[in-house]
Amino acid sequence: MFARITRTGLDDRKALLALKDPAAFVGGETTSNIGWLGSFKERLFGKKERDASKDRHATEAELIDDVFFFNAMGEDEANGVFSLRGDELDLDWPADKPIANQQCFGKVEEMLQRLSLAMGGTYTPLPTWEGLPPALDKKTVVVTHPLGGCRIGPTMAEGVVNEFGQIYDGSRKTTDPLAVHPGFFVVDGSVIPGALAANPTLTITAQALKAIERAVGPLSL
Ligand SMILES: Cc1cc2nc3c(=O)[nH]c(=O)nc-3n(C[C@H](O)[C@H](O)[C@H](O)COP(=O)(O)OP(=O)(O)OC[C@H]3O[C@@H](n4cnc5c(N)ncnc54)[C@H](O)[C@@H]3O)c2cc1C
Repeated sequence: MFARITRTGLDDRKALLALKDPAAFVGGETTSNIGWLGSFKERLFGKKERDASKDRHATEAELIDDVFFFNAMGEDEANGVFSLRGDELDLDWPADKPIANQQCFGKVEEMLQRLSLAMGGTYTPLPTWEGLPPALDKKTVVVTHPLGGCRIGPTMAEGVVNEFGQIYDGSRKTTDPLAVHPGFFVVDGSVIPGALAANPTLTITAQALKAIERAVGPLSL
């Protein structure tokens, strides 16, 4: 489904990355790039007639028949801290630990370069990794499986919920670090403490079943 955008993006990669004005990519055209951007959009959205004599691509499959797409997953270092500022959720990320500099991304990149070379191809990272506007900095990463926003911890000092998803209660006059709000559970991916290095749905489901059994008793599955 991304065949056309992939082909056009690859063919125009250099011009795309040379765009200086972030607004240009999201729609606002400036005098410096209007010609190129207009033609990019026309080719992307198919408004411009394709010259069949020069274009060897007849189908969407052929548009990308020289492209092999790698999708890599790994564990990041979970350096961020969520906190509540009033009613707003805030994320603090240490400035000296930019996410893209983490070891796992370096390893992934190195592995993909080696694989591309071994396949006789050219390693081409996603434009967002190379600094495509509107990214303010190079190496923008996209988080597809955000976990750990409401994490399980062994005590209320280390987590929001216990292993069953019950919310710790620090408000009452108790010194018990395991005290919970009765009948109050969090049942979703946010309780998983951090990246799993694999797609998370089964783990989230297993954790949800554990919480449900604590709440209502054994399930007959
Ligand atoms: C395109 C895509 C592909 C994916 N592919 C995979 C995959 O192949 N394998 C895999 O393991 N994972 C995959 N994931 C990730 C996986 O889907 C999620 O990690 C998982 O669904 C998260 O579960 P969750 O229960 O935490 O949240 P969700 O599944 O997002 O559930 C949250 C629920 O809360 C509801 N909700 C939100 N606000 C309110 C409100 N105010 N009141 C009441 N209800 C509310 C929402 O409607 C939703 O039903 C994919 C995700 C996406 C987006």
